[in-house]
Amino acid sequence: MSLIHTTSQELFTRAQDSIPGGVNSPVRAFKAVGGQPLFMKAAKGAYLFDEDGNQYLDLINSWGPMILGHAHEVIEKAVRDALPGSLSFGAPTRREVEMAELIISMIPSVEKVRMVNSGTEATMSAIRVARGYTGRDKIIKFEGCYHGHGDSFLIAAGSGAVTLGVPDSPGVTKGVANDTLTAPYNDLAAVQTLIDANPSQVAAIILEPVVGNMGLVVPAKGFLQGLRDLCTKEGIVLIFDEVMTGFRLAKGGAQELYGVLPDMTTLGKIIGGGMPVGAYGGKREIMNSVAPVGPVYQAGTLSGNPIAMSAGMAALTYLNEHPEVYTHLQTITDKLVNGTKQNMQQLGLNYTINQVGSMFSLFFTEQPVTDFASAKTSDLGRFGKYFHEMLQRGIYLAPSQYETLFVSAAITDALADQYLKANLEALQATL
Ligand code: PLP
Repeated sequence: MSLIHTTSQELFTRAQDSIPGGVNSPVRAFKAVGGQPLFMKAAKGAYLFDEDGNQYLDLINSWGPMILGHAHEVIEKAVRDALPGSLSFGAPTRREVEMAELIISMIPSVEKVRMVNSGTEATMSAIRVARGYTGRDKIIKFEGCYHGHGDSFLIAAGSGAVTLGVPDSPGVTKGVANDTLTAPYNDLAAVQTLIDANPSQVAAIILEPVVGNMGLVVPAKGFLQGLRDLCTKEGIVLIFDEVMTGFRLAKGGAQELYGVLPDMTTLGKIIGGGMPVGAYGGKREIMNSVAPVGPVYQAGTLSGNPIAMSAGMAALTYLNEHPEVYTHLQTITDKLVNGTKQNMQQLGLNYTINQVGSMFSLFFTEQPVTDFASAKTSDLGRFGKYFHEMLQRGIYLAPSQYETLFVSAAITDALADQYLKANLEALQATL
């Protein structure tokens, strides 16, 4: 029943001549699972279609943005309607004001917001602002959390960085690395120790409030609130990196779900409806340190791009006005997770599954996964086999153990059944 991938293989061979590793973002290369990446041609609803005409049920959804499924009519229409205006003005537009107001109305802690073009730009800018605002240099991040490829974050980074075994990338200077302190996720005592060892030097603590980049890891009870209390006490800017979780775990992101408010929030993925958009925002007082009102410089030729704003506005407006999307996502993801547990029971397997809302990960380990160290107890060889068995059955999973899956609203009950049938067979094939 082997699928034909001849065209993808030809393209990959060509691509490797002209693009480093044949891909424009490392995790796409399938290095962690072996084999060759598939080249996609089109997508609609819950499905991806590759260059060889195979179709796949998509559990990545462009690494998060396509929460409504691919080629959603509302977003496509918004883009089409915006096209005759201009592709780019480089001047302020009404759309940007509306977008800022919408974000502020949806994300509980955001009082002012600046648009950028990616999640990486959002996090890089946010820590610069936190440093400028506090007059301090150091930041604390957590092992296995990924905040994009800014130099300061490529220290014990998760996602593609750990997948490729380069958690500390060459090219990041010692000076930059020295200003990034790291602690294990869910370990408040370790954070306290770092703060004590660096008195009045820590500008910001940045974290994924629910982690997607070491696989899905859930904040322990009290962890987020504990960080909130520490930051308030020590004058540290608490930054929630909600690039994955924003508009996904609730319309107000993880901060709404857990009821803990950061000082700053970084956003990406869903905020652009599939177009390249990011944003950072937070308390009015902190955001007023950003140029031109304040001294911290940050800019972008294409920031607030009219087509990107239109796509993003359409996605966010739809989510804001259709709370039933979140109910559906929860129901379907519960079904996928509970069904996988039943399949494992049937096969005598006892792997760990973590889930929050429409994000989940199956870890090939029997240990609870609460941080990066426990995520790394997973059997990567077995995960790779499972990945390929699923792919052969038309299910497109993230090609790494250290990634979360993202469920889209286009996955119906019947498609969930199809997923679970493949899951049972694929798990069996790994035995
Ligand atoms: N922050 C988090 C939590 C992410 O998951 C990512 C990307 O996956 C980023 C930041 C970087 O976003 P981008 O890839 O848009 O630069």
